[in-house]
Amino acid sequence: MVSAVASLELFNTLSGKLETLEPVGAPALRMYACGPTVYDYGHIGNFRTFLHVDVLRRFLRQQGMAVEHVMNVTDVDDKIIRNALAAGKGISDYTARYEKAFFEDMDSLGIERPEHLPRATEHIPEMVTLIERLAAKDIAYRTEDGSWYFRIARFPDYGKLSKKDFDGIEDGARVDVDEYEKDAARDFALWKAVKTGPDGVPEPSWQTALGAGRPGWHIECSAMATSLLGESFDLHAGGEDLMFPHHENEIAQSESASGHTFARHWMHVRFLLVEGKKMSKSEGNFYTLRDLLLKGHRASAIRYLLLSVPYRHQMNFTFEALSAATNAIDRLRTFHARILRGGFVAGANEAVRAATAKAAAEFTAALANDLNTAEAAAAISEMVRAANSSADAGTLGAENADEILRVLTTFDGVFAVLVDRDAELTKAALVWAQAEGRGDEASAELVARMGQSDAEIDALVAERTQAKKTRNFARADAIRVELTAKGIVIEDAKDGVRWKRK
Ligand code: AMP
Ligand code: ZN
Repeated sequence: MVSAVASLELFNTLSGKLETLEPVGAPALRMYACGPTVYDYGHIGNFRTFLHVDVLRRFLRQQGMAVEHVMNVTDVDDKIIRNALAAGKGISDYTARYEKAFFEDMDSLGIERPEHLPRATEHIPEMVTLIERLAAKDIAYRTEDGSWYFRIARFPDYGKLSKKDFDGIEDGARVDVDEYEKDAARDFALWKAVKTGPDGVPEPSWQTALGAGRPGWHIECSAMATSLLGESFDLHAGGEDLMFPHHENEIAQSESASGHTFARHWMHVRFLLVEGKKMSKSEGNFYTLRDLLLKGHRASAIRYLLLSVPYRHQMNFTFEALSAATNAIDRLRTFHARILRGGFVAGANEAVRAATAKAAAEFTAALANDLNTAEAAAAISEMVRAANSSADAGTLGAENADEILRVLTTFDGVFAVLVDRDAELTKAALVWAQAEGRGDEASAELVARMGQSDAEIDALVAERTQAKKTRNFARADAIRVELTAKGIVIEDAKDGVRWKRK
């Protein structure tokens, strides 16, 4: 029961208020989200941001809005060059495995693929053209070493996104690194002249009209966004750390070149924290998705956990919360299976019918209100409670079941946790760890559990059923004990035996 189409009120960092998000000048909503820098495996903080952008696109599509979503892959930057040189590899050789891992992790977490996935290194000509346009206006200037910088004194709106007041901008003060102090109002690099690495090896570079060099990070996104979505588009998203300097610089470059508003709406996902600190590579307080799968946690629970706190609040990662998310998923899946199994009385229980309609309306209203995932999930949980107690009392009607299934489908269109691919994903993580020589990071219990194929378990379950038929209860019990030890739960139901991995 999908309630009437709701429009999305989304907080806009630029205006500082909730605004209706809608496509302007095109049928589809055009959105750009800064993608990963593929220099290492992503951590679950990174994925928190990508997951909430996934909720945005799934909800918009559920509401009948087409989206044209671009997510770039940053495959050249300071860190990539440093690591590739250290590994004695070319940058594309170096980034290929992390890019592949990133997309595998996206799939494991149920994150839909954006319509466009441009790589920075495949859009160098567009970056050069953009810098040339800025140079023609004397907003980009060349320095002695052959690098090009953006003159921020020429962009009076500098600071409008991050609401920083850069009074008395010092003309010509420069910074050549992509990520810098939060209060620096400095001319930033658009194009970095080729340098020689520590061992005298030249850094990767492109020979262009600007000279030999490589793009700065900020120009990458401006060039890819405008070439795929146009000079003005609807929404730009990223994690909160990107607001300054990255997004501020994207605005300065793009709007100086085009004279038009770059993105109308800006969405920033707040950090995932560990003990009050941002989860990050540099703090060393991070978990990758693979780390958690190898510890025996489920991909679905990680998705559900990271969505449990709305995107505009920071969220603290704890293992207690992860096990609560695991329990929540079990409850939802068990409920879903119960409703699918049927066997309810004819007609409908009116109280449950009302609870179901209320849950559907509240689910959509919560998401329409700045993507409040916590309230959306709570609405569904309340429906599960009401329907379970009615089913326990034998009063749940077949018509209720149909209505409930429609609401669960709507829920899962956004949350995407009901279909159980967890064992398969954990197994894939184990295979990966073994191939990488990291098999010993997997818990012994997990290895034992995943070593058992579905066919082997099916055979044991069938043997147990047979043993029960022939009244060989000792054997039947022994099989149950063996399966339990392997983390397999069996449920005896009217219509047969089911099993699942715990
Ligand atoms: P990166 O690969 O470092 O460029 O980051 C990819 C995305 O993850 C960016 O949108 C970042 O803002 C975001 N991000 C990084 N750390 C966190 C964190 N702890 N919590 C949420 N998002 C993060
Ligand atoms: Zn970006």
